[in-house]
Amino acid sequence: MTTESKSSDFIRQIIDRDLANGKNGGRVHTRFPPEPNGYLHIGHAKSICLNFGIAKDYDGKCNLRFDDTNPETEETEYVEGIKDDVRWLGFEWDGEVKFASDIFDTLYGFALKLIREGKAYVCDLTAEETGAYRGKWNEVGRNSPYRDRNVEENLDLFERMRTGEFPDGAKTLRAKIDMASNNMNLRDPAMYRIRHAYHHRTGDKWCVYPTYDWTHGQTDSLEEITHSICTLEFEHHRPLYDWYIENLGIHHPQQIEFARLNLTSTVMSKRRLLELVKGKYVSGWDDPRMPTIVGIRRRGYTAEAIRNFCARIGVTKANSTTDYAVLEQEIREHLNKIATRVMAVLDPIKVVIENYPEGDIEWRDAVNNPEDPDAGTRKIPFGREIYIEREDFMENPPKGYFRLVPGGEVRLRYAYFIRCNDVIKNTEGNIVEVRCTYDSETAGGKAPDGRKVKGTIHWVSAAKAVDAEVRLYDVLILDNELAGNADRDWKDELNPNSLTVVRGAKLEPFLAEATEKDRYQFERLGYFCVDKDSTRDNLVFNRTVSLKDTWAKEKKKQKA
Ligand code: ATP
Ligand code: MG
Repeated sequence: MTTESKSSDFIRQIIDRDLANGKNGGRVHTRFPPEPNGYLHIGHAKSICLNFGIAKDYDGKCNLRFDDTNPETEETEYVEGIKDDVRWLGFEWDGEVKFASDIFDTLYGFALKLIREGKAYVCDLTAEETGAYRGKWNEVGRNSPYRDRNVEENLDLFERMRTGEFPDGAKTLRAKIDMASNNMNLRDPAMYRIRHAYHHRTGDKWCVYPTYDWTHGQTDSLEEITHSICTLEFEHHRPLYDWYIENLGIHHPQQIEFARLNLTSTVMSKRRLLELVKGKYVSGWDDPRMPTIVGIRRRGYTAEAIRNFCARIGVTKANSTTDYAVLEQEIREHLNKIATRVMAVLDPIKVVIENYPEGDIEWRDAVNNPEDPDAGTRKIPFGREIYIEREDFMENPPKGYFRLVPGGEVRLRYAYFIRCNDVIKNTEGNIVEVRCTYDSETAGGKAPDGRKVKGTIHWVSAAKAVDAEVRLYDVLILDNELAGNADRDWKDELNPNSLTVVRGAKLEPFLAEATEKDRYQFERLGYFCVDKDSTRDNLVFNRTVSLKDTWAKEKKKQKA
């Protein structure tokens, strides 16, 4: 959020123009208006960065407003979760949190005004009949037989709707606009529906609830919003947004639409995310595989990386899908700068260094972060028995394999060259131990006689290692094109291998003290963080992201 980003997108250009023309008295006031029917996802982060970012750039204000017009799907848990998410992303709203339900009384008064002016009427058509009367995009609608009710009758019926005389769905209040309009949204849209339902904030006060369209613009107006930024699918709602505001004669915010964020390899609507949670496909809204803010946060993503990602993808008017790899690259770039480098072995095999004195431990210096000179060094224990990664040893290596092989030599990161002399197998023929000797002259990573080794591998002291559970993640959805196909159940595309739990990983002892806010690079394995399930006796780490885009490689392999 540098000042450079000012005017860098079409919305900021509109704002610049408005400011130059003295519109809104030089004010810039945006809002982020989530419906509290689930936790926020990375798509919402785009909208948050845009709305709060604009307020920041222009010395303006941004409201956090809950669009709580639908009593049935909303929960207080989500309200608190969303507030947390916005703050975690690094933003603060102006004043108190707002709720659409704050203006239910005012809206009711606005409806009475439109009824009195002959611009709204009570309609008795059922939902099905209303649909049939509405026509199609290429066929004009027909007027409701109740359209010409007089003002007194409408006022009386609307009042009786409010006091609970009629059952759910029996009547609606509709705006009287134009059943022949090319824009379906203007064909006498519903303003109020009868719903005898408890509301999380207004309780049982209301049994008529305003529709989204009837609420949204009026809330914007009363909050004196100047620029009401929403996603493209609301473009065709803008004429209705404008109609309500003009006919009420109240402050007119400008609605501006931008393209929503779509990401490959995941799903993003709250409805689908809720299905994943309810169906126990994931452990909860904050499962690290979820594209929710709470999920990616638990996975180890940083707020800075998400803000950078939103800045990188930019704001446009054209719908597109961003590759998940772009998000991963952004988190790698940030973690590369801040993560402490450590050694961990996920699939351990024991190496015994036969010529190293039994019981001795020496403490080797390791660099905490080569990208950050201030991060310093730390001591790591080395001894006669160490663990290395099972795949870093091969008895019958293919050509080009530069790690440990029988008779071969390899460099241990921050320690010595070791040479493999022998392999010990169990009765099933599996390797249980590799016997080596080390060259004490190679402590600096070089041999005094100038001989070279091609491979450097990571390792952990067997005597000092701490055990941990490590959770590795892969994409949630395997084929995003199919997931978007309405004929198929998107859940068929769930990746059955999206979670791999590794038990008995060996970590250098330093990691016993790790906390949830720390970020680590396990050398050669990726970036990791402590999971919230972690305890002193049972350490649990999440892999935030691998070091390279291995997924893209995998996809290429599959195609080949
Ligand atoms: P969902 O279908 O995921 O629930 P929504 O649009 O119904 O999305 P809201 O809670 O109504 O969710 O959205 C709050 C704000 O976030 C809106 O202004 C909406 O336009 C914006 N938003 C939602 N999804 C995205 C997305 N994928 N990219 C950018 N903005 C989004
Ligand atoms: Mg919604």
